[in-house]
Amino acid sequence: MPHTKTTLPHFFIIGDNKIIELPHIMEFYRLKHDRVLLLGDRTTFVCGGDRIARYFKQQRKKTIKRIVTNSDEKNVDRIVKVITQTKPDIVVGIGGGKVLDVAKLAAGKKRKKFISIPTTLSNDGIASPVAVIKNKQRIPISHITQAPFGVIVDLHIVRKAPIRHIRAGVGDLISNLSAVFDARLAYKKRRETVNETALALAESGALGLLHTKQKHMKNKNLLTRLAQGLIKSGCAMCIIGSSRPASGSEHKISHSLDHLFSPRKTLHGEQVGIAALFTMALQKNEHLDRVINLYHKIRFPHTVRYLSITEKQFIEVVRRAHKFRPHRYTILEDKEITPDAIRQTMHTVGLI
Ligand SMILES: [Zn+2]
Repeated sequence: MPHTKTTLPHFFIIGDNKIIELPHIMEFYRLKHDRVLLLGDRTTFVCGGDRIARYFKQQRKKTIKRIVTNSDEKNVDRIVKVITQTKPDIVVGIGGGKVLDVAKLAAGKKRKKFISIPTTLSNDGIASPVAVIKNKQRIPISHITQAPFGVIVDLHIVRKAPIRHIRAGVGDLISNLSAVFDARLAYKKRRETVNETALALAESGALGLLHTKQKHMKNKNLLTRLAQGLIKSGCAMCIIGSSRPASGSEHKISHSLDHLFSPRKTLHGEQVGIAALFTMALQKNEHLDRVINLYHKIRFPHTVRYLSITEKQFIEVVRRAHKFRPHRYTILEDKEITPDAIRQTMHTVGLI
């Protein structure tokens, strides 16, 4: 993946009922919004998108509403065409990963400012410059594009998402601890240069979660820390221009799992969160015990059974993981890991 540094989001706003303030926010940041392209899906229009359209209408602004059906090239091409034809001043996306990824990439291609309004905190794409889009062969490809101009996390909306989605966000954020370790290891072994500011930022978001005393997933403090952490991850990726601060050996394992055992019912954040337990044990990562405590507290899934695979299949997944993002040096490349060592590590962290 080319390392193209992108600009950081100009603002992020986290709190209850924040979408009400959207027109005010547009004025404050002097964002021209006479014509707004509003992207979402059927559900996200109901849970906030339609209200946004109403606020703009009250202000006599023109809103063009379009539905995003999937995060694939077809949808990106369609939205790029809509932007060309309707010439909006700004693109606003309200939705989960699929909507935001399509909106982000289409807006990036047409150099339009993009406001990201997540309806779930299940992954770190809400503020990142990365858009994961399926190609014609249905293989997910990571594109680096411009980061959102601003991010608005309305806690009232994300609280309505299934608890499982919030847990997945925790998994994706915690995986930064494994990814940051790998990036520092690559630097130590003179395999890669590294921007320590970006790594520290990605790490601090995850550490912020470890400090929470809350165990209720919909608690305001926990959701705020989660949102802040995911946004910090996004900013860290902007600084480096790649997903490196938030994607190391644990993401390689998740990609290998997707490749070997698809289609999958588990969420990305669940997969990388479980894989991070394994990689952090291999790394002898100093934060591992606290991650185990957090997982226990919030009932984060931590077994390979949850991934619907057997012990033997997980070993296979790990042994093939180095083939994914091969340019990224991680603990998996650093050590010769035998099937026995994999089994033993799985036992250590309770994966089996
Ligand atoms: Zn991730």
